[in-house]
Amino acid sequence: MNPQPLPWRDYAAFLATLFPGKMQKLAVNAGFTCPNRDGSIGRGGCIYCTNTSFSPAYCHQQQSVATQLEEGKRFFGKKYPSMRYLAYFQSYTSTHGSDTATLMQLYREALSVSGIDGIIISTRPDCLPQQLLDALPSLPAKVIIELGAESSHDTTLLRINRCHTWSQTVDAVTRINAAGIPVGLHLINGLPGETTDMMLDTVDAINSLPISTVKFHHLQILRGTPISRHIPDDIISFTPQSYATLCAEIVRRLRPDIAIDRFLAQSPPGMVISPRWDIKNYQFTPLVIKALAR
Ligand code: SF4
Repeated sequence: MNPQPLPWRDYAAFLATLFPGKMQKLAVNAGFTCPNRDGSIGRGGCIYCTNTSFSPAYCHQQQSVATQLEEGKRFFGKKYPSMRYLAYFQSYTSTHGSDTATLMQLYREALSVSGIDGIIISTRPDCLPQQLLDALPSLPAKVIIELGAESSHDTTLLRINRCHTWSQTVDAVTRINAAGIPVGLHLINGLPGETTDMMLDTVDAINSLPISTVKFHHLQILRGTPISRHIPDDIISFTPQSYATLCAEIVRRLRPDIAIDRFLAQSPPGMVISPRWDIKNYQFTPLVIKALAR
């Protein structure tokens, strides 16, 4: 039986416009650092960030990019032998601390692994030199760029110590689009001081940008993060149901051609202080559909 089509454009539909088969992202840790931690832009990092929450077990930075990808392929290939893959340069800021030639070498190494059909680069809006954007189209495969925007409100960006502004996100999206590269944004719902109207303002703001995808996360307070030491009292305390209601309103407002990658963050349960929902994206989707129907 075919699953019911979703009442929004999903990420698989977006990937299908670029790649013929079913694609799996393989995360790669190429040893990048973060300019918001190493002092080149800021120190201490974003107040909610602990990067260990988004590096899978097969991904060890001591190993070469090609070795990590081979391990990732073995991990997924047992279950899905015909799967094709995207190398996902995800950890920290994947364009920071290396010159364009070095980055291009890493991307070429990834594409030299059989079964790797494209690259996703995750980075900050203020870490995209024009020289790199000019070079990326010369790679022999499709590239997608994901930018951590988090919010369109500069007051929020200041408060969470992002050390970049919304106008820098707009500038980066504009330049990526001009280079002919599909771009997606990452946003966090429930940041300190944000009302639901502010979160929906951000949706209105991204609707005017030439983006292809968006990935939403709910704010998770994780162990060891700056925010966990002084949890602000102006964070909306969502339940899965009230968060699904917000997500339904987001779907209703979002430009319909923008594909939604996900609504939830999913950090390892042992790291999560709050909210402890223990719910996965596929379990959350029906809640959003129900809320939309209401
Ligand atoms: S969220 Fe990204 S930019 Fe912020 S501290 Fe973590 S790695 Fe750096």
